[in-house]
Amino acid sequence: LLALSACGSSERKGDTSSNPSGAAKGFAKDALIGVALPSKTSENWVLAGDLFTNGLKDAGFKSDVQYAGASTTVADQQSQITAMITKGAKVIVIGATDAAQLGTQVKQAKEAGAVVIAYDRLITGTGDLDYYVAFDNFKVGQLQGQALLDGMKAKKATGPWTIELFSGSPDDNNSGVFFNGAMAVLKPLIDKGEVVVGSGQTDVKQTATQGWKAENAQSRMDSLMTSTYSSGKTLDGVLSPNDTLARAIITSVKGAGKPVPVVTGQDSEVESVKSIMAGEQYSTINKDTRKLVTETITMVKALQAGNDPTINDTKSYNNGVKVVPAYLLAPVIVTKANAAQAYADDPKLGPLTK
Ligand code: BGC
Repeated sequence: LLALSACGSSERKGDTSSNPSGAAKGFAKDALIGVALPSKTSENWVLAGDLFTNGLKDAGFKSDVQYAGASTTVADQQSQITAMITKGAKVIVIGATDAAQLGTQVKQAKEAGAVVIAYDRLITGTGDLDYYVAFDNFKVGQLQGQALLDGMKAKKATGPWTIELFSGSPDDNNSGVFFNGAMAVLKPLIDKGEVVVGSGQTDVKQTATQGWKAENAQSRMDSLMTSTYSSGKTLDGVLSPNDTLARAIITSVKGAGKPVPVVTGQDSEVESVKSIMAGEQYSTINKDTRKLVTETITMVKALQAGNDPTINDTKSYNNGVKVVPAYLLAPVIVTKANAAQAYADDPKLGPLTK
């Protein structure tokens, strides 16, 4: 089970020296701000684009918000960022499609005097990244691992419980951090034999879901249903890193004619919140995109005024070259029990939980 902790991500704990950013600060109130987002692999990215467009406009800035395409994601994003630099963007906010493939663009931005903020996903292998703003990804994983256990215990008071593990796309730094957070909770129980990974597939090469694509999770779950659960073994739970994959996993299990196990998720997607209220998917995570975008725009405003943006973490995110100063927000676990309360002020989700 050694490979459980390795998921291709950068270390969470780094040295504690904070790295004061050498970023250029103080620029025109109506400067251009670039926002480069990945392809629309979950609802949060769609929402973020709209919120950035409107929020930056309300704050008086010009904006250029771009998404990487569905297939040539890395090349698309690289050229979008280069175009933003050419147009003179003063801050470039990036939700990376591939954590390790943007070093050249981040360096170009720095040389042109732009500040680079990694949004939601860390950019690795570059000393030129200035800031990171995200939800606490390790905590997301811990909450998922705990929810999986709680959900299984509610159905069957004593173990051993049989589970399967899914992780996100290996090119997204978050995937490993989510997985490691979940394993911090699950691995002690796996070691004691109270939780059993039915297929034995615990290595990240086996659990990964390339491109965060639903069809990839669904076909892996189809294979697991055939290889491991076709002759009577009960599947109690599945660790799913997000809602899109959770629904694909549930579809697969139902297709195999088996009862739906406890399945975790993340993102509070509309279809998953409906599924939770209907008693199918067990949990999701609320990472309120409105708060994350607002926090990012607050950073941009501070930079515009020539100030240092507020950060609250200087140790968690070593990107392989430096510890990136970060502002981390707290994720919230949501099950049927607290959904109404969690989404009370969310115009899209609140009504679903009434
Ligand atoms: C985000 C998740 C999202 C996933 C797939 C991750 O980097 O943090 O919220 O589910 O990407 O889009």
